[in-house]
Amino acid sequence: MRELEKQMQHVCVVGLNWGDEGKGKIVDVLASDADAVVRYQGGANAGHTVYIGEVRHVLHHLPMGVLHEGILAVLGNGMVLEPAKLLEEVESLPEEAVSRIRISDRAHVVLPHHAAVEKLREQSAAHPIGTTLRGIGPAYQDKFGRDGIRMGDIMTPGFIEDVLPGKLRERTQRLGIPGEGIDEAIQICNRLKERLESQVTDTRQLLHKLHQQGKKLLFEGAQGCMLDIDFGTYPFVTSSSPSFLGLGPGTGFSPRKIDHVVGVTKAYCTRVGEGPFPSEIHGEEAEALREAGGEFGTTTGRPRRVGWLDIPALRFAVELNDLDSFALTKADVLDGWETIPVVTAYRLDGEELGQFPDSLTDLEGLEPVIEQWPGWSQVDEVSMRPFIDRLMQATGIPVSILSTGRRRDEVCVFEPFRAEGELA
Ligand code: GDP
Repeated sequence: MRELEKQMQHVCVVGLNWGDEGKGKIVDVLASDADAVVRYQGGANAGHTVYIGEVRHVLHHLPMGVLHEGILAVLGNGMVLEPAKLLEEVESLPEEAVSRIRISDRAHVVLPHHAAVEKLREQSAAHPIGTTLRGIGPAYQDKFGRDGIRMGDIMTPGFIEDVLPGKLRERTQRLGIPGEGIDEAIQICNRLKERLESQVTDTRQLLHKLHQQGKKLLFEGAQGCMLDIDFGTYPFVTSSSPSFLGLGPGTGFSPRKIDHVVGVTKAYCTRVGEGPFPSEIHGEEAEALREAGGEFGTTTGRPRRVGWLDIPALRFAVELNDLDSFALTKADVLDGWETIPVVTAYRLDGEELGQFPDSLTDLEGLEPVIEQWPGWSQVDEVSMRPFIDRLMQATGIPVSILSTGRRRDEVCVFEPFRAEGELA
């Protein structure tokens, strides 16, 4: 199609805030140009919503690419899969789409006792994290404790009948919830095997082959990099690496082969669950922004905490993800505002900081420094240019995609995803 595109074989989309940035929509926009869309971490704790026309599609495990004919939807080894939820998603799709799903035999499964133990921990914790209670954290604990159950195990003849019951009895005993969810787990694993056995494969090898054939891969991080297990606001984080850094271990595909990393951020910020959020706002202003942006969780329905765009946090995200460009979403939510409040620095003990601090104690004492940036009278490239230029000056990174509404066609695409002169 064009010179630029040839150099852009593989792209990765990551969330730059605390999740819910609208990654689903951006992946959906870019997927039309990809051969496979790949998820590399997390599980059903993610929730993507995309509108095609007026039809709403919600996916939890599956990447948005599955809604595009002819594109492979790959669930990488770094994911933890909840069988009942995955089957529910699969049943909502036409058989043609199901045939394009590929699931890593190394991905781990989340079973009912994982959710049970997470509920107990959150209920009794002095400082609950505010997790989705789906058992994601405990499933990752089993993985790193070298005690997990993988998709490949489930598909091995005799495993469900002969090995799984004993493993689950021993585990639930150890966790202090003897027998919890064992029958349910066996039943759901049998259904999973029956329905998806032919979709389970060595996805590392598959991705390598696709690369060699010159096919285009689009990788999708779930949640957001401020929730990264290592680099997020620990311990108020998710149990995996949603940043670009998670791509390698989560797929077995070398990050050196990725040509472009796009980071998705809203024109403001949100966070679900507990933990530091330096640009957070409260009261009537927050209520109005939450309502205008429809900021209620796709997976949990929880109202999201809201705040202003946070430049020090974005600078941190730019470095962490080795970012090439921004996808700026939800511009329409602030449509008509004369000026847009943006946090450009923090004050800590009388000193001004331009960087996002590492320490949780420092994060809690931050006072945001707010500047008013130029607003836009309508959501188009021209009206938004002063804001976009300001963002580039503050971070050194250009905007490549501008999302101006929730529908697939409400988008402006710039270089490198559009060659000069080509209409979006
Ligand atoms: P994700 O987890 O990052 O994919 O985010 P979600 O899908 O949970 O949340 C994003 C929400 O914002 C969804 O309801 C999308 O339909 C919606 N959305 C995405 N982009 C835009 C946009 O530019 N404008 C508006 N108004 N909504 C958007």
